[in-house]
Amino acid sequence: MIYAKSILTRTTLSGGDVSYSFNPYRGCGHRCVYCYVPHLPGFDDNVNENPQPKINAIALLRREIRLKIPGMVFISSATDPYQPLEKKYLLTRKALELFSMFPQWRVTILTKSALVLRDLDLIKKFRPQNIEVGFTIATDREDVRQVMEPHASSIPARIKALRVLKANGIRTYVSVAPILPLNPERLAEMISELVDLVFIDTMHYPSSVASTLVKMGWEYILSDSWQEEMAVRIREALEKRGVKVKG
Ligand code: SF4
Repeated sequence: MIYAKSILTRTTLSGGDVSYSFNPYRGCGHRCVYCYVPHLPGFDDNVNENPQPKINAIALLRREIRLKIPGMVFISSATDPYQPLEKKYLLTRKALELFSMFPQWRVTILTKSALVLRDLDLIKKFRPQNIEVGFTIATDREDVRQVMEPHASSIPARIKALRVLKANGIRTYVSVAPILPLNPERLAEMISELVDLVFIDTMHYPSSVASTLVKMGWEYILSDSWQEEMAVRIREALEKRGVKVKG
């Protein structure tokens, strides 16, 4: 375990919609092959080998939530808030408990884990406009997910979790990022009725995934033209169904 110096980090993510990021863990046990965190300043290639809880995260949050100017908090930008460690340490759950008591703060959760449903009771305590829950779903194919996101929830589990959240009146979104081998129309069909918004983004660090893609025969996804074609097809298929798309 590690001790952090501060926990609400100023950010300009999402074009300024988000004011802070909250990362209760360093590293991430989902171990996605394409993980961008090793490329961020202050991290290295081994960051996901041995993820650690920031054991003083809640004590820091309790103080910073009172001292800092309220805004939108991204949970999380450099880890998955519902990665396997969360089952034991409950740092995300405890943070949501705190945020739910301060209505001037808003949160946006992004995960690849159906564990988020464990906290549905807390999520429902927020004012509806103060919380949203997103899933990264970068493919409709479970065989691709198993290779590229080996320890994250299955695609059907994420879809099921989205359905539960939507049925409970929670604002939801999907991030299709990076675009992995997929059937874009099938993915759009799977998510269109379950989300308020979809973000699309392409692969940012292709060199780190190239060997896996070549081994699997999926290296075609690294071409700009394929990424662009898929982005257009996902967008068109979603917009045809009335879903708002960004990116
Ligand atoms: S879930 Fe996110 S932070 Fe975790 S390994 Fe995957 S890409 Fe990295």
